Amino acid sequence: MTITVLYLKQLKTDIKATINLITSKIDCKDSYYINLDQIEEMKRTGLVSFGSHTVHHLELNRMSYDYQFREITI
Ligand SMILES: [Zn+2]
Repeated sequence: MTITVLYLKQLKTDIKATINLITSKIDCKDSYYINLDQIEEMKRTGLVSFGSHTVHHLELNRMSYDYQFREITI
C-alpha cells in the first residue's frame, strides 16, 4: 500500500488529494516517482485523483507555444 493511501485512510475523513504527475516519469526505473500500479491503487480508494504536471517538467516559459501545448496535452 502506498504511503499516500495509508495516510489518507488514517485521517478517517473525506479529505481527498490530487496528484499532478510528470507523465514521462510514470513507470520509470527511479523509485522516487510512483508507478502505474501505485496510481491504480490510489485511484481505487476514491480518495486520490490525478492530473498532469506536464510531460517532462521543463520550464515552459522558455518554450515555444507549440512545445508548451504538447507538454500539457500529451
Ligand atoms: Zn513542478
